[in-house]
Amino acid sequence: MPINKKSFYSFIESECGVRGFSGIAVLNLSAGKLIPFRDILAKTYLGNQNPDWPEYMRRTAELRADPIKLLPWAKSLAIFAFPLNSIPVNENFLPQTDNDELSGLVAGYAGRIDYHSYLTEKIYIFAGSLQKYLGKNFGVEIFVDTKPLAEKSLAAFSGLGAVGLNSCLLCKGEGGGTCLGVLAMDIELPETEPVDFSAPCSACGICVDRCPTGAITGKPGEFKYKKCRSYLTMEKKGVLEEDDRKNLGEWIFGCDICTSPCPGSKIPPPLKVDLEWLLLEDDSTVGKIIKNSALSYPGLKLLRRNAVCVLGNKPSAKGKSILAKFAGLANAN
Ligand code: SF4
Ligand code: SF4
Repeated sequence: MPINKKSFYSFIESECGVRGFSGIAVLNLSAGKLIPFRDILAKTYLGNQNPDWPEYMRRTAELRADPIKLLPWAKSLAIFAFPLNSIPVNENFLPQTDNDELSGLVAGYAGRIDYHSYLTEKIYIFAGSLQKYLGKNFGVEIFVDTKPLAEKSLAAFSGLGAVGLNSCLLCKGEGGGTCLGVLAMDIELPETEPVDFSAPCSACGICVDRCPTGAITGKPGEFKYKKCRSYLTMEKKGVLEEDDRKNLGEWIFGCDICTSPCPGSKIPPPLKVDLEWLLLEDDSTVGKIIKNSALSYPGLKLLRRNAVCVLGNKPSAKGKSILAKFAGLANAN
């Protein structure tokens, strides 16, 4: 029996309210509407590759170019936005300090429960609820940064929000303060209507002025990934050259400077981690703490490399004495 659209939209709205999603967009992968979007993705990812892309984007460009190639079995996708500020605080986080000379900044979301596992669990519960609502079981797979899907583009195309000059998905009422997840399903579902929202970038430009590294150029669709602190602190392995080290400023993980002022954003404030502790505590104690947080993505070695760079960016007598013990760490692999 065909699914009643009105009732389905009420179900989606109710799930957003009950589970705290900022929005859910449903995309039918066999609908004709997807054809022009696949063309855009193909031009973006299969044309002349942008030299500013990080290596993982180049490596996965072919799959990013076509969600159907990546998920040939799927008939519908649901794309979820969840407000980072609603994720519970991780009570077992790295020690923090008010001593500016020995602190390093960590993007606020990392001090919450790891959004990958938190959002996956929420989407899993949604999938169960949808099966109950439809009265049938169906095949599903959940992705939260776990497959080379062009999530942001999919979210924008399916009407969940718009990509801002800071390269984040901006959602109505949330600015850039959300994380994204995707549920692939082997059933056809009605597509949701686009949210009435457009990015206020042309009248704003705050992130262009504030980005300290020049990653945000102000040109729509252009973003210098390799200059961004998120790339430098989490993705870039090995040696950080002098320009990169300077570009870290005080940040050892991510950076909130372009997302926090985005109109509507309510992102968690950055955390001032104790770098002396991070560098001198034994590996297994630090490892146990970062294992259950978003910091596990770069891992201990890169975090310590970044900590060494940050201490070098704001020299103090105490900082220098710590740095003397870590002369080789700025080159972590
Ligand atoms: S800060 Fe302003 S210009 Fe930058 S992404 Fe947000 S709305 Fe757009
Ligand atoms: S995260 Fe920081 S470095 Fe990266 S674009 Fe935003 S402001 Fe610039």
